[in-house]
Amino acid sequence: MLRVSDLEVSYGSHLALAGVSLEAAAGEVTALVGANGAGKTTLLNAISGLRRPSRGAIEWAGARLDGLRPDEIGRRGVIQVPEGRKLFPRMTVKENLEIGAYAPESRRRRAEGMDKVFSLFPRLKDRRSQAAGTLSGGEQQMLALGRAIMAWPSFLLMDEPTEGLAPRLAVDIFRVIRSLNEDGLGILLVSQEVRQTLALARRAYCLENGRIVLSGPGRELLADPGVRQAYLGL
Ligand code: ATP
Repeated sequence: MLRVSDLEVSYGSHLALAGVSLEAAAGEVTALVGANGAGKTTLLNAISGLRRPSRGAIEWAGARLDGLRPDEIGRRGVIQVPEGRKLFPRMTVKENLEIGAYAPESRRRRAEGMDKVFSLFPRLKDRRSQAAGTLSGGEQQMLALGRAIMAWPSFLLMDEPTEGLAPRLAVDIFRVIRSLNEDGLGILLVSQEVRQTLALARRAYCLENGRIVLSGPGRELLADPGVRQAYLGL
């Protein structure tokens, strides 16, 4: 279980998260939806150690994560797939993937990880010697997800994995997310594809101005009139 309790994060005098609490079960997809600027990326960055909270606690599998460095959090199996991909553009696809396997255990399983990524994303296999910066937007998104898979995570934090992608490619990414979850991976998923995200999520949270305003089973939120109006334009 990933448990966030009463989390506060500020940028100077701006309170971006104002006491956020949520639970994401191991092995389940948990959705986080909310308008631009609601604080979704800030929350993922706080969990992965990129942002220091000023109050509150983050626990994974019963141990505290807050206060640890991002690489220490990664070694505990909690891996972020960042928004905007953050690849090394001049390095090849293969080299970018290898960087994902930085911890000793995942380094040992590097070849196996690479096979898994290439079976999920055959396009990456075809382009394994190509510089990451020359890939299409969709391929870069696949590579960012592939790099996270190379770390053999037990929990993934995914930030807008389909942003800027053609609908057909977004469908592919959602298919992979579903298949990773079927293999037992827990995922906290932030996405503007609210309908697909809520349909996939066992549990879901709506974030507004740094506060959780609604939570419940994904399918329940999908039927909620407020959610339908705010996020689905119905
Ligand atoms: P989006 O969907 O647009 O990515 P979000 O829900 O992920 O939005 P955040 O990026 O977490 O929102 O931002 C939450 C708030 O904090 C916003 O008001 C944003 O302007 C502010 N913010 C984010 N990063 C910084 C920063 N580095 N410095 C100052 N303010 C920031």
